[in-house]
Amino acid sequence: MTLMTGKEYIESLRKLNPKVYIFGELIENPVDHPILRPSVNSIAMTYDLAHDPEYEDLLTTTSHLTGKKINRFCHIHQSPEDLVKKIKMQRLLGQKTASCFQRCVGMDALNSIYSTTYEIDKEYGTNYHERLKNYLLEAQEKDWTIDGAMTDPKGDRGLAPHLQEDPDMFVHINEVREDGIIVSGAKAHQTGSLNSHEHLIMPTMSLSEEDKDYAVSFAVPTDAEGVFMIYGRQSCDTRKLEEGADIDLGNNTFGGQEALVIFDRVFIPNERVFMCKEYKYANMMVERFAGYHRQSYACKTGVGDVLIGAAALAADYNGVPKASHIKDKIIEMQHLNETIWGCSLACSAEGHKTESGNYLVDLLLANVCKQNVTRFPYEIARLAEDIAGGLMVTMPSEKDLRGEVTGPWVRKYLKGKVGMDVENRMRVLRLIENITLGTAAVGYRTESMHGAGSPQAQRIMIARQGNLEAKKEMARKIAHVDVTKDKVQ
Ligand code: SF4
Ligand code: FE
Repeated sequence: MTLMTGKEYIESLRKLNPKVYIFGELIENPVDHPILRPSVNSIAMTYDLAHDPEYEDLLTTTSHLTGKKINRFCHIHQSPEDLVKKIKMQRLLGQKTASCFQRCVGMDALNSIYSTTYEIDKEYGTNYHERLKNYLLEAQEKDWTIDGAMTDPKGDRGLAPHLQEDPDMFVHINEVREDGIIVSGAKAHQTGSLNSHEHLIMPTMSLSEEDKDYAVSFAVPTDAEGVFMIYGRQSCDTRKLEEGADIDLGNNTFGGQEALVIFDRVFIPNERVFMCKEYKYANMMVERFAGYHRQSYACKTGVGDVLIGAAALAADYNGVPKASHIKDKIIEMQHLNETIWGCSLACSAEGHKTESGNYLVDLLLANVCKQNVTRFPYEIARLAEDIAGGLMVTMPSEKDLRGEVTGPWVRKYLKGKVGMDVENRMRVLRLIENITLGTAAVGYRTESMHGAGSPQAQRIMIARQGNLEAKKEMARKIAHVDVTKDKVQ
């Protein structure tokens, strides 16, 4: 089963038995739950497009371990070209789903753990890299969706993990046994966790020796004993529970989803442990994962394409597509979207080989890419709302459109350009609402700010990677500065 279809992926989820809570209740069948199903559909697209001749070059590749054809989401990048294809695939999926398709975090985790375990083994003579390769073989063979999990709840941000009042604020090792480890804690904001086959855990930040119990990386099945998840609710999510809901959803098929994932004394067998107290390497794993996932935010340009298209359509329905200020706003949206893309492309093309042989993005450019993402989608969304007009948030519901009394009035007063359909106009406005304020806004707006690390995290990396000393030296040379004349530096 090296390449599943979307249908097979959905069937494979039915065989799992995860503990999922929504609105305080344990859910029997998460796959068909109306609130979760759109997020399942988005991931299913990552499987279906792998079978589409038009897209298989982006969605599939060859395993460097087996030579078999695999889904790119299970791939270890072998060249800068692989890194470029990865983001082209992500932009495409953003365009096809207009939401977060969730599967990227696992791919980014596999690649960062792959190279880090190689370097841990080199220093300590451990065999984590071999374990990861065996895990990867299984992931590629079974075509898993993996939730790459990094962010801990963190408790008091001013305290190191070992100083927290509650040690569970960071995932940690409770016990080391001969055959494995016991872990406790939680990972917050976990994208796609409810519909992944597996979870792949990494530490959340650099750690000191006192925090070595928190230096842990491992893989665990989503339905393992002691693992459970609490759905993170989204703006407007209960619209999905309304009978026959369609127009009011804005996007009635696709969505993303996050959850709080809790580990309550979970046993992890040794073969699934990829870091156990090697605290010196926590930073490397974090920086590499963050780099890959900041590159991954090319996904936002795909959703941005849909939003720009929707704004242009709204202008058509409003009858003002030729107004110069509208045209200019749409140009601005495109400029911002392509600027994000340019950085993601640049950090991919400038990728380099790690000691383990896989390719890592240029970290400075990946961080600049994500820093732009913390800003530009907000401006793109603002311009889309500007073009759409206030009707986007004051419009009557689909039920009013269909209502015996209200329907004719809605059709009369929601008319825009002569000859254009009112229902279509409503659909376009609801799509803009969905991406900017509704369920997809989690993925397009606030995730742009905090996903893959909040803005300050990128600024720290830009400071680290920016090589300011070299730039000062360039300036000294041009200005003929004689440093021997400076009494202090
Ligand atoms: Fe993939 Fe983007 Fe969702 Fe991250 S936010 S999982 S990169 S679609
Ligand atoms: Fe994300």
